Amino acid sequence: MKNVSRRTFLKGSAAAIGATMLAPAMGVFAEEEEALQTEAAEIPDHPVDGRYVTRAIGHESWVYVSTTFKEGKIVACDVVRNNETIGVGNYACGRIPKMIVEHQSVNVPNVRGCSITSMAIKRAVEEAIQKAGYNLDDFSAEIEREMTNETIERECDVIVCGAGTAGLFTAARLAEKGLNVIVVEKRDIPGGSMAMTYSGILSTGSRRQKAYDVKGALEGTASGDLEVQIEALKKQVINPDRFTEEMPFCRILYKDSTEMSDWLSDIGVGFRTFGVFEGDSSWGTGLSLAPGMYMGGAGYCMMLLADRVGQFENSEILYATSVTDLIKEDGKIVGVHAEGENGNHYTLKAKAVCLTTGGFARNPEMIAQYNPEHVGQFFNCASASTGDGIRMGLEAGSVMDVIDTELPAYLSSKKRLFELAFLGAINGFGNTGLVYVNTNGDNLGSCVSHVNCSDSKLNPDNGDRFFCVFDSTCAEAMKKSKPMGFTTYDAMFECGDAVHYDSVEAAAEELNLPNLQATIDAFNQTGLLETRDGVWALEVTPTFYITTSGLKCDKDCHILDADGNWISGLYGAGDVIGSVEKHDGLRYSYGFDSAAAFGYHMADVVEAEM
Ligand SMILES: Cc1cc2nc3c(=O)[nH]c(=O)nc-3n(C[C@H](O)[C@H](O)[C@H](O)COP(=O)(O)OP(=O)(O)OC[C@H]3O[C@@H](n4cnc5c(N)ncnc54)[C@H](O)[C@@H]3O)c2cc1C
Repeated sequence: MKNVSRRTFLKGSAAAIGATMLAPAMGVFAEEEEALQTEAAEIPDHPVDGRYVTRAIGHESWVYVSTTFKEGKIVACDVVRNNETIGVGNYACGRIPKMIVEHQSVNVPNVRGCSITSMAIKRAVEEAIQKAGYNLDDFSAEIEREMTNETIERECDVIVCGAGTAGLFTAARLAEKGLNVIVVEKRDIPGGSMAMTYSGILSTGSRRQKAYDVKGALEGTASGDLEVQIEALKKQVINPDRFTEEMPFCRILYKDSTEMSDWLSDIGVGFRTFGVFEGDSSWGTGLSLAPGMYMGGAGYCMMLLADRVGQFENSEILYATSVTDLIKEDGKIVGVHAEGENGNHYTLKAKAVCLTTGGFARNPEMIAQYNPEHVGQFFNCASASTGDGIRMGLEAGSVMDVIDTELPAYLSSKKRLFELAFLGAINGFGNTGLVYVNTNGDNLGSCVSHVNCSDSKLNPDNGDRFFCVFDSTCAEAMKKSKPMGFTTYDAMFECGDAVHYDSVEAAAEELNLPNLQATIDAFNQTGLLETRDGVWALEVTPTFYITTSGLKCDKDCHILDADGNWISGLYGAGDVIGSVEKHDGLRYSYGFDSAAAFGYHMADVVEAEM
């Protein structure tokens, strides 16, 4: 191997660009070629200025970074290609390179909320520094956050604690109604769990849905009519003690979600309808946030909402600031205390305080208390889900409600915990092409069902080793995610997580799955997993991601004490009030839609009661 000079490096890049044009089917692209050249190059014995493209694995896939050196300085740094979560990783891609150039250091603080992408970018730049022949120590000064240490007292109409799903819907609605709103957000970025979600929006009978449904095929069906939907839900009750004919919580969920989808449309959020992509996607009748399921729709919508809150003069988001406690005077909640990462101490007073701080999946003590069977389990969720709002609500006199032992889980890739919730739906919900197996190679059934994924994780007989084994037709469908119209699962192939074996026998031996052949034989009695050209295997793990118990509340987001009395001034929506469906005696189903619809609803209630 030889050193790469600036000239040969550029020559190589040009060749790579040529290769990109000539061989798109091979998946070759210029940044990859450049990064591979940099990786292959030896470290020169003296600095060689120029532009270096390097890469590191981020949350989803490779993050490609271009770093340019001139006369001992990093003069430019950019993420030139990435596949990180829209609404999460892109914040790091935008901010970290700028900070590196500004401070001439890779040791800048991570963007809180997207640490994995932040670290990937820094790793890639570290490699560039070394490959350019510079000394990493010269670019490693520790950069700390700027401290201001101010004491700030303010008053407003409404304080929203947490700029996640519910908080952003509430704040965006209240802001446009003209109320003075301060949103306090613990992390550097907005969104909480929203960007991680599937992007579907319940839209029973919405204007959007009707516009799509020209022939009125959905009229009188559960998808198109609220009352038919409610009747269908009544058949799914698992806890009769909580059931009432009115189904008040589910009614709000479906009704407000429908209104909300029209409102989103009016403020410029895009939607994608299923079923109108000839030769490809035709799954379901619901609306999905554009550009579609798991394609960043929820992230784009989230960023629009956060931006909207910031644009109204009467509303703002205080980032990197944690609400620490509620202020209670004469039995009424009148404000909050908050602490900024910059050392600022806030006393914020308001006529209403909305708790939208999410669940407690990342709080081991609360898990031990409310979900003891999940102690020690990893929860694949936003790190800020530490139950702060629930703790504050309890301190203010509320109690925990809808407590039970069952938590939902979905599949993630084992290595990088990449969301694979719909993997099993890729080829028709499990009757063709794919089996989900345990450590012995035994078939575990549906890998789409929350309950089945949860049960397989908790059952020690499964050995805590799980694989999806599938055929080549399924692999191709997975890369393009044909039935659902999203392409994010191709990252499993790009990063080598999905591995091809020449035969079932080879896969069984290599992965130590003794019963795999028998499982496939049994599967093929009714389905078809074609093994003539071998099989693919992807190591997966069922991951818990949400807690579903929360503060006692009524259907209008009032937080209640043990006797069912409203703790005046205190409202809540989203995971802070637990699963909406569970309040009506159903099983958890829609965390995102519930947080969004109840966030939307809470704004109307707060305005009306102001
Ligand atoms: C990986 C993943 C995938 C999911 N997929 C789906 C899906 O496909 N479909 C679905 O229906 N649901 C899904 N969910 C669930 C859904 O995302 C959540 O139920 C919903 O987004 C919760 O909204 P929230 O507003 O209650 O909380 P979050 O969206 O989590 O927002 C809480 C916000 O409060 C902030 N915060 C916390 N404490 C404080 C504090 N002390 N001070 C200030 N701010 C604070 C947090 O930083 C965060 O921004 C998924 C969740 C995860 C984690």
